[in-house]
Amino acid sequence: MTRRLIVVGGGLAGITAALTAADAGASVTLLEGRPRLGGATFSFRRDGRWLDNGQHVFLRCCTEYQWFLNRIGSADKVVLQDRLDVPVLTPWGTTGRLWRTRLPSPLHLSAALSRYPFLTLAGRARVGLAALALKRLDPEDPRLDTMTFGAWLDRFGVTARERAAMWDLVGVATINLTADQASLAVAAKVFRTGLLDTNDGADIGWSRVPLQQLHGDAAARALEDAKVDVRLRSRVSSLEALPGGGFTIGADGGTLSADAVVLAVPHEDAARLIPADALILEDRRANPTSLAGLGSSPIVNLHVVYDRPVFREEFAAGLASPVQWVFDRSDNVGLERGRYLAVSLSAADREIDLTNHQLRETFLPALEKLLPATRTARVDEFVVTKERNATFRAAPGSRRLRPHARTALPGLALAGAWTATGWPATMESAVRSGLAAAHATLPSLDLDPGRVLPTTKPGAFPERTTTP
Ligand SMILES: Cc1cc2nc3c(=O)[nH]c(=O)nc-3n(C[C@H](O)[C@H](O)[C@H](O)COP(=O)(O)OP(=O)(O)OC[C@H]3O[C@@H](n4cnc5c(N)ncnc54)[C@H](O)[C@@H]3O)c2cc1C
Repeated sequence: MTRRLIVVGGGLAGITAALTAADAGASVTLLEGRPRLGGATFSFRRDGRWLDNGQHVFLRCCTEYQWFLNRIGSADKVVLQDRLDVPVLTPWGTTGRLWRTRLPSPLHLSAALSRYPFLTLAGRARVGLAALALKRLDPEDPRLDTMTFGAWLDRFGVTARERAAMWDLVGVATINLTADQASLAVAAKVFRTGLLDTNDGADIGWSRVPLQQLHGDAAARALEDAKVDVRLRSRVSSLEALPGGGFTIGADGGTLSADAVVLAVPHEDAARLIPADALILEDRRANPTSLAGLGSSPIVNLHVVYDRPVFREEFAAGLASPVQWVFDRSDNVGLERGRYLAVSLSAADREIDLTNHQLRETFLPALEKLLPATRTARVDEFVVTKERNATFRAAPGSRRLRPHARTALPGLALAGAWTATGWPATMESAVRSGLAAAHATLPSLDLDPGRVLPTTKPGAFPERTTTP
């Protein structure tokens, strides 16, 4: 009889685990508590237009996420820059650009660094020295997880202004913490993999359609084709290991049995559901409540619809402004009149508790300073989306709290962007964790884990030409 895998959680990690196990020959049921797939990446309709819960981007170095897009048939719904190019706007009108050439790393950034208007000559030298030192750090070295990235940058005399102009611009958006809060280990991973190990890792990609279409809806079709039994609105309330092997799952008043389980839920939910004695941290059994130490870091997005064009770029970063990143999403959501800008605020510990009125009072004037055309435009809509638990806090000490996929119970695996992938909580981390979890459960289903083979196809995406 075919043995059954139950995947709990229909975010990118759970979808990946379900598809991968099904592709390897498993009989798979996926239980998702919400009425839709896609997890932390979703869209909702408001006044006839789609809004995403938060702007999502990926980098060329996110190879498994790109495999995932191919697998669910969404590769044609994203664009990827052919070369990194980020306009950096300031309230005083000076615009800088962070871009790369085709030279090998680290020379690929030298032209941008030499022309970047927000660094002095000495500042460029300090940033360059820190970058070269960062390239030599091993993100897997546990000692790196005992200090903040900010404390390490201090060793190079990097000033607060240089930190804001270079490191936080990239780090806050990818790690969801400032340099002063983030673990050096995760910062080393991000900056090495994205900016320093190759010359093209940080080219930026984004969706041309609402996130729900890109992930959840496309995944639902792919899962159906792979014969995965998807049950939405199925919230799992208990998970029990049976003495002779296998599991019983309580969901919506009933019970289901499984030979193997992938628990692909956020860490707060996993802490409640993992059977006692199953969690392994640093090669030792650990109490599931220790996962609470991962904490959470919020992201806030502001969705502003203006009555006319206000922005010539597709996106830009803000410097010396509360606006961190701003994206023109108008074409991506099919807006017929006016322009829709999404302002993305990461590490938003302060903004998460502001009222919509306070956010409006702060951010509309800030946008007027960065984008002068907004001064004479009418604001037709101002919507706020808040994700209080957007990601775990990748602070010092978080590395030892991230479990690998394998647990102490044969047949039970963990997945989720928060597990030990080495990546910050990103879509790439979620997909990698799903692949690892499928791999870990296949032996309990009498299937060969060697059949889990992600097949990244670089260059399979429509490229967006940038002109640095
Ligand atoms: C606003 C925002 C912006 C972001 N921006 C980016 C970005 O630009 N780039 C990037 O790479 N990443 C970004 N991220 C992070 C990225 O979205 C996540 O890391 C990733 O989607 C997490 O996927 P996951 O499958 O691990 O978890 P989730 O997406 O959280 O999925 C877990 C699923 O489990 C379900 N679940 C929970 N409990 C139960 C239960 N008891 N029973 C059944 N189902 C349950 C949940 O409903 C959910 O669907 C952003 C996140 C947010 C919130």
